[in-house]
Amino acid sequence: MAQQQKPPGMPQRKWRELLWTQGQFDHEEAVREINKRWKEPRVCPVCHQNNWAVSPEIVRLWTARLKNAYPCVNMVCQNCGHTMLFNAAVLNLLPEGKS
Ligand SMILES: [Zn+2]
Repeated sequence: MAQQQKPPGMPQRKWRELLWTQGQFDHEEAVREINKRWKEPRVCPVCHQNNWAVSPEIVRLWTARLKNAYPCVNMVCQNCGHTMLFNAAVLNLLPEGKS
């Protein structure tokens, strides 16, 4: 089976379209997947507090030519506003990452 070429972390078109129309993801699963990968202490690199919020919708990180966008989980420090993005495909939050 021929596989479409895509950059790492860029989901297949059908999953991207599903994401963009729904925009939702499993919030608890996202937090679980981030916590599995993020080593302690999970403090903000700017203000050193541990007070994070994960946005309820996937955000798009567009490529320069605006032809594709990476689906990202948006995590914001509730003290200073520092924002971190986690690629939803790498976190296995998309259907294509499920077995
Ligand atoms: Zn902070």
